[in-house]
Amino acid sequence: MTEALLLDLSGVLYDGGDIIPGALEAVRRARQSPLALRFITNTSQRTRAALLRHLRGLGFELAPEQLFTAVDAARQWLRQRGLRPYCLVHENIRGEFYDFDQRDPAVLIADAAEGFSYASLNRAFQLCMAGAPLLGVGYNRYFKSGGELLMDAGAFIRAVEFAAGVEAVIVGKPGAEFFHQVTDSTGVAPGRALMVGDDVFGDVEGALNAGLQACLVRTGKYRAGDEGRVAGEFAVVDSVAEAVALALPRP
Ligand SMILES: [Mg+2]
Repeated sequence: MTEALLLDLSGVLYDGGDIIPGALEAVRRARQSPLALRFITNTSQRTRAALLRHLRGLGFELAPEQLFTAVDAARQWLRQRGLRPYCLVHENIRGEFYDFDQRDPAVLIADAAEGFSYASLNRAFQLCMAGAPLLGVGYNRYFKSGGELLMDAGAFIRAVEFAAGVEAVIVGKPGAEFFHQVTDSTGVAPGRALMVGDDVFGDVEGALNAGLQACLVRTGKYRAGDEGRVAGEFAVVDSVAEAVALALPRP
């Protein structure tokens, strides 16, 4: 039985500026159902405000409190510990961390795109060697944009972990804490929540490890055979339309 539905954004609802066929209607159906609906993303190239604008611009209706982003989780984590991050992040979200003026440093790595360079990674490495904690936004291997696969932050986080001999704290998916933050907001037990995503590791494996149900969609970054890459029981469907139909209570 499913009482809460968690939808990944990119690759599930849209692909860049294109709506995935059936996604608008699927979200509408979910909104009109008794399911608690949440949107959950590791995307770190847009601020929360820009993400909401993007979603609404495409025609998706949602309340701000239904959207959970890994970037917000990173802000919260840093704030709670009074840390000032050295930011290896995309220029679009740099402003989200300007107001952190605490003294103790931390290293924050998200999808920095062109911001990844030897100099910036080496600075991160040196700070970690000096004891700064390493925080990673997601641990994603790649994402899809404009029809091609692009390296995500995961490998860059790994590089600094390897060189400095440290382990990053991962905020966002696949962290169980992030999934639980979202299910807690619904009041539904994790086992009665269904996570729908196109990333078999970040979305599906992460959700299963956190005690949620999971559903892999064959859209976005999905590649043939992905369903065989992680253990555990989960649904595999063609698109979010089918995933929502799966979650809706039987009449
Ligand atoms: Mg995705």
